[in-house]
Amino acid sequence: MKITLLGTGDVRQVPVYGCDCEACYRARIDVSYVRRPCSALLESAGGRLLLDGGLSDLCQRFKPGDLDAILLTHYHVDHVQGLFHLRWGLGPTIPVFGPEDQNGCADLLKHPGMLAFQPPLNAFESIYFGDLQLTPLPLQHSKPTFGYLLREGDHSIAYLTDTVGLPPETEAYLKQHTPDLLVVDCSHPPTEIPPRNHNDLNMALAIHHSLQPGKTVLTHISHELDAMFAQKLIELPAGVYLAEDQMGWSLDCGGLRRDWRMGALIG
Ligand SMILES: [Zn+2]
Ligand SMILES: [Zn+2]
Ligand SMILES: [Zn+2]
Repeated sequence: MKITLLGTGDVRQVPVYGCDCEACYRARIDVSYVRRPCSALLESAGGRLLLDGGLSDLCQRFKPGDLDAILLTHYHVDHVQGLFHLRWGLGPTIPVFGPEDQNGCADLLKHPGMLAFQPPLNAFESIYFGDLQLTPLPLQHSKPTFGYLLREGDHSIAYLTDTVGLPPETEAYLKQHTPDLLVVDCSHPPTEIPPRNHNDLNMALAIHHSLQPGKTVLTHISHELDAMFAQKLIELPAGVYLAEDQMGWSLDCGGLRRDWRMGALIG
């Protein structure tokens, strides 16, 4: 199976409109530094799954029939805003899975168009796409939010955004099922004040040290944190990587490896 990080920014993205910090300035002159809304594409024998629908150009990126399902972590705008356009398209319906959230986001659940919202998933109850096993894991955030453990054969990827720390039962589950690759929320620079809805760097690294995955990728990056990396003020421990849009990782009998960044960037 293979995961491609389609977007790695926080809700404000990079560049932030009107900001001239080092990260925003750099992203404005070189598109390879742009951070789009946090999302990923998972490709496996079981199909092609889009993890979150926050990209505004979903209709350009994917042809009808390209996606077998969409998996939502939660209903914050930066994770669903691309669905508001996609839903009015034509072609085969796309099943959408996610957590129970009566409020959802605006009228998305009331007027789903070509999106087929499935009954809400239950924590720790796996669903399957062919041989791909997908287990919803509760996270700590300001809306009901699931991370997902994606397993195929002996390999697994944990995709955990948005969250501040981990609920004890999710941490215990992931200690029992150590992922080869952990993709985790790391929105804020290291801070003394405990963050409310997203990990800062210290909390993200604490999760890495607690779970001891094969490798960890930090995502949902704010421009403030990105600027610290741009200025080389932060060095990450071995095995921990800063996400970039279009960064890909493959997991197969050859183990876990980082792919070259995929193709041309869109937008
Ligand atoms: Zn978010
Ligand atoms: Zn900025
Ligand atoms: Zn959120």
